[in-house]
Amino acid sequence: MTERRPIRPLPGQLVNQIAAGEVVERPASVAKELLENSLDAGADRIEIDVEAGGARVIRIRDNGVGIPREELALALQRHATSKIGSLAELERVASLGFRGEALPSIASVSRLTLTSRARGETHAWSATCQGDDIDVSPAPHPEGTTVEVRDLFFNTPARRKFMRTERTEYTHLLEMVRRLAMARFDVGLTLRHNGRATLQLPPAALQEERERRLARLLGDGFVEHALGVDVEASGLSVRGWMGLPTFSRSQADLQYLYVNGRMVRDRTAVHAIRRAYQDVLFKDRYPAYVLYIDVDPAQVDVNVHPAKHEVRFRDGRLIHDFLSRHLRQVLEGVRPEPGMESAL
Ligand code: ADP
Ligand code: MG
Repeated sequence: MTERRPIRPLPGQLVNQIAAGEVVERPASVAKELLENSLDAGADRIEIDVEAGGARVIRIRDNGVGIPREELALALQRHATSKIGSLAELERVASLGFRGEALPSIASVSRLTLTSRARGETHAWSATCQGDDIDVSPAPHPEGTTVEVRDLFFNTPARRKFMRTERTEYTHLLEMVRRLAMARFDVGLTLRHNGRATLQLPPAALQEERERRLARLLGDGFVEHALGVDVEASGLSVRGWMGLPTFSRSQADLQYLYVNGRMVRDRTAVHAIRRAYQDVLFKDRYPAYVLYIDVDPAQVDVNVHPAKHEVRFRDGRLIHDFLSRHLRQVLEGVRPEPGMESAL
């Protein structure tokens, strides 16, 4: 017979480590959470330094609003957030974060230091975790925040085993930075790997500058073979670029979709875009696109997935029809893939 064990609350650090299982998969997911925090803090300059693909060091410095000393320890506590305070706010949340879980989760599986100077303050402070204890001490820092994550998964060997080579982890991290760089053209970004600058993206305000950034991130080919999209109707909007049929791909590897500034996978939208291309693209080819959909935040549920890779539209049908109709119009008059006319 199985002997019954008494029920006990889990120790705090273990709770955080379990939560980390949902959002901290690899260095790229750490970078995603930290970058989203910098964006939520209103930063327009972000510097990212990584070593060994992010396994040894991920350091992200921003010039956002910062965190005052009295709240530094709270930032590292589970379910503590400055972004929402009620269910009503959750239902129309516009920030990228809101769960108050990223920092404590990451801190529980790495050596994390959070250093910040709040806007208007003369001093900066630094917080580090030792198990469940948080130590706060003075540190030099300009206005803004730096989060340094060292030795990811050093204390969770099972997770560490899932990390791939430095090169693979770096490739994932770079892709994450690339997605974010396309979400926020107004933010200047630099990325350094092992001390070498790999991406230097100045803020891009003009369309021309945006396209230069896009070309830098996706290659010249896409921008040269894409149509600009800018449609607004019935409280919805879709903007961005749609690749011409002549720039179609054999894989769905150049499809970037953002909903309210958040990079997501969404079947409804993907299907609608596919529809828009149906007369100009062969079935086994994939369109290339970078599209930004904006809807009233109350019309979309972002709390579907801990890492927020997915969203749920309250009225999926409306979004689907809007996209397929207007994007089809953008493609109207465009020459189909060679050989396609005869196939129709
Ligand atoms: P969430 O983003 O869901 O609120 P996090 O654990 O990622 O949860 O962050 C906790 C809190 O710490 C945030 O709500 C925010 O107030 C603060 N914070 C985190 N990163 C930064 C940053 N880079 N700049 C300013 N404040 C930050
Ligand atoms: Mg966050």
